[in-house]
Amino acid sequence: MGIKIKSRTLREISSISEMKDISQSLRKQNLTIGFVPTMGCLHAGHLNLVKRSLETCDRTVVSIFINPTQFGSNEDLDTYPRQLESDIEKLETIGADILFHPTKEEMYPPGYKTSVEVQNITEQLCGKSRPDLFDGVSTVVLKLFNIVRPHNAYFGEKDWQQLAVIETLVEDLNLDVAIIRVPIVREADGLAMSSRNRYLSPQERQSALSLSRSLQQARDNIRRGTTSAKAISDSIRQCLSEQEGTEIDYISVCDPESFKEKEQIRGRTLIALAVKVGPSRLIDNCIIEEF
Ligand code: AMP
Repeated sequence: MGIKIKSRTLREISSISEMKDISQSLRKQNLTIGFVPTMGCLHAGHLNLVKRSLETCDRTVVSIFINPTQFGSNEDLDTYPRQLESDIEKLETIGADILFHPTKEEMYPPGYKTSVEVQNITEQLCGKSRPDLFDGVSTVVLKLFNIVRPHNAYFGEKDWQQLAVIETLVEDLNLDVAIIRVPIVREADGLAMSSRNRYLSPQERQSALSLSRSLQQARDNIRRGTTSAKAISDSIRQCLSEQEGTEIDYISVCDPESFKEKEQIRGRTLIALAVKVGPSRLIDNCIIEEF
């Protein structure tokens, strides 16, 4: 990805009221606001979302907030990678306008009581193994939308189910924001970029390649005529299990909107995986278009 160097300086904001004032003032000037919510430790996948916003909106706001409410008690909230200084450098280099990085006390002050729940599409896949995830994501994203008041918000298809949850939230609650889907950005060898890749040892990184490789193999098998979802998930399981240090959370061959499991691969199909590799729980997916 070519990174454009811009001279505008990045404005760093941690106060909700200041961020709201700026958004209000930008809207009064008829300037469009693009928004990229992240948990930081930025990589080329995040920066591609920023680039998309810079291309279409007058001002781009990036948030970095490691949202505690989306982590379960046995998950990696405490060890989630944090590297604010180098994130700021990356955002300055690419030309983002505003970094919003509130503290958790600013976002969830004492006495905080509210949570938002999107139903029916949050119990499968990642929602099954991480029951706190999507209520936490929906709540923080709604809060961030109310604070930043973006015209467009950019999300990666790597978190396919999260995107569906956010699209549903926006539709059901009549929010005035356009959700822009952005394809998965991968390393040259196919590994989907993730902040959690940095936990991987060289051996684990090698094992992690089996996620993208097994998806590619599944795609090839479907192109050659396999239609049984079980045959596809069995071959993915085999490919993942051959690797040292992998523990499969789920392999799903399902409808990309309802997440209902399929028996036959007919119509548009999502193949989604979550696999623990060493200390990192990694996800990846691909879409099989109707054929
Ligand atoms: P995170 O910081 O992991 O919460 O991710 C913030 C945003 O970046 C989400 O919309 C993710 O889907 C997106 N994202 C993360 N990794 C990638 C990737 N490899 N390709 C595209 N989008 C990504």
